Amino acid sequence: MNSSKIIAIALAIVAIFAFPIFLNNDYYIHLGTTILIYIILLFGLDIVVGYTGQVSLGHAGLFGVGAYTTGVLFFHLGMPFFVTVPASIIVTAFFGGLLALPALKVIGPYLAMVTLAFGTILQILINEMSFLTEGPMGIKLLKPEFLGVEMGEREFYWVSAIAMIVALIVVHRILKSQLGRAFEALRDSPVACDCMGVSVYRYKVYAFVISAGFAGFAGSMYAYSEKYISPNTYNNELTVLFLLGIIMGGRKSRLGAILGAVIIVLLPKLLDDINLFRMVAIALAVLVTLGSALALSKGITTRKKVFAPVVGTIALALFSLWLENITDWRLSIFGVMILLVVYYLQEGIVGFFRNFTSALRAKVVQAQDLSATAGETSINVIHQAAVKDTTAPILTIESILMQFGGLKALNNVDITIKRGTIHGLIGPNGSGKSTMMNVLTGIYIPTAGDVKFESNSVVGKTSSEIALSGIARTFQNVQLFGEMTALENILVGLHHSFNSNLLDVALHLPRFTKEEASARERALGLLHFVGLDKLANEEARNLPYGKQRMLEIARALALDPNLLLLDEPAAGLTAPDIKELLTVIRKIRDHGITIILIEHHMDVVMSVCDKISVLDFGQKIAEGVAQEIQKDEKVIEAYLGGQSA
Ligand code: ADP
Ligand code: MG
Repeated sequence: MNSSKIIAIALAIVAIFAFPIFLNNDYYIHLGTTILIYIILLFGLDIVVGYTGQVSLGHAGLFGVGAYTTGVLFFHLGMPFFVTVPASIIVTAFFGGLLALPALKVIGPYLAMVTLAFGTILQILINEMSFLTEGPMGIKLLKPEFLGVEMGEREFYWVSAIAMIVALIVVHRILKSQLGRAFEALRDSPVACDCMGVSVYRYKVYAFVISAGFAGFAGSMYAYSEKYISPNTYNNELTVLFLLGIIMGGRKSRLGAILGAVIIVLLPKLLDDINLFRMVAIALAVLVTLGSALALSKGITTRKKVFAPVVGTIALALFSLWLENITDWRLSIFGVMILLVVYYLQEGIVGFFRNFTSALRAKVVQAQDLSATAGETSINVIHQAAVKDTTAPILTIESILMQFGGLKALNNVDITIKRGTIHGLIGPNGSGKSTMMNVLTGIYIPTAGDVKFESNSVVGKTSSEIALSGIARTFQNVQLFGEMTALENILVGLHHSFNSNLLDVALHLPRFTKEEASARERALGLLHFVGLDKLANEEARNLPYGKQRMLEIARALALDPNLLLLDEPAAGLTAPDIKELLTVIRKIRDHGITIILIEHHMDVVMSVCDKISVLDFGQKIAEGVAQEIQKDEKVIEAYLGGQSA
């Protein structure tokens, strides 16, 4: 963190705490408290929506569970603040898990429906369980006591500010740890995430549980803040409002959550007061016009693109001046604003400004900076593969049949892979090579046959179990975690090296900080190994294609595999890149790691492979060393008959 950022944060904290001193008005202080509480909830919601990319419409329900846990404990048992808050967090996290376990078996709109139904059920339960919740009557509470006196609005505002800052620190630490990286990775590429040993399903559930914990925390604070809770507060309208907060503020950003909370609390108030509305509409029009002019002068946007927002906001400002009374128009204006945001600010306000400033800086990755130094070192970054009984094969593929409907993509294939070798797998397009990789890594379950890795069957195991047992892979279509940096991509591969739990992460206990430091050091070493050290902090999606392929290999190596599967690693690479790749592949083999190499470039295959198996229409038609394969009649026919290699 640089010093200007630290000063900005310090000033913000002072401003937050000073606010109720300068503005000593209970109404405004209460609004401030509500914003602080919503921020806590949005921090948690952003984990699910922004990071893992799942939709949750159940968060108002979870917010309600938090509020009611506090309400019930207060009302029936007279429990104090420092008991009710942790209890609400734990109970709500439990409900989050309850929601996640079945819900996350479905995706997309189905998940949204399930979470919506869950929220509705919670609301009904709160309503019906009158013996606990007093039903529709609701529960009255008192604010927490301090030195035996009930707190006022101002004191409770300060408590909420501390709560928000604690939540901010905790959520930030979680998201910057192996947990947060797992959440982000599963969104960018679920299949690669599983194949790096990070179970997508399990981490989705974790994300929901942690997110629910924050909702419970917020709910508990809200119960005290309002001093009264009743079931219909936690309705589906509130759930949509929370989601809107994340979308408008900007996902994957703490600042986005803060802005989102400010907007969803203040926007309805803004639309109550015509003078305030006029001021904001005019300010908005001026901002958008000036911003567009700046962007146009720098040549980072087109007239066509800025036309509608500029005209739209100016029209809104004029409209606000013409309006005499806002009440009739409230809902329509609200709708128009939401439309504008959804259409023009898809990355939210924070995302918009991030894109805007980075476009202004026009950061371009310069090709000459990337001069290849791949394969130069191997300072313990690659772990020597465990030496086992060297005569036994590392992998045996036994009569594998993989059927898709009527198509036999693999038809009775037997292959034995010798330990410590580079085994080539070639064949025309569509011959079943990638299908074989998918069978070996648990993405497909074969129709018949068996695969034994280190003499244990992998059939029926999940991709992440297979990955953790020592098989790493790359993909024919590069599967990187695009929004994460090169370094973070490798850190996901190193996920298996972490033992620290949520508490270690939240409190930055030595167990976590040590693991994180050593993982970072190794990740940098691996980046150096493939010649990517200068691009460590570049987002993977911005890397040149050849570098992306190299990054994928480095990430696979992070798993400490005994067997590495490379699916057409040279596809789309330039000649110098291919040379570099060959150096890297040989180096990997020298560390005792067995490699299966699928490749279309015959020269690559012939120069590095110890043995080659040839597939055609799902069947193995030849096997042997390079010279034998080159002379084989069947192989020549397969290649001449199909596409040339
Ligand atoms: P290769 O990698 O050798 O080019 P693939 O293994 O990708 O070939 O594909 C082999 C055959 O299996 C192709 O005909 C392909 O269309 C088919 N195939 C692969 N995956 C699936 C799938 N999930 N569903 C249906 N057909 C598939
Ligand atoms: Mg393929």
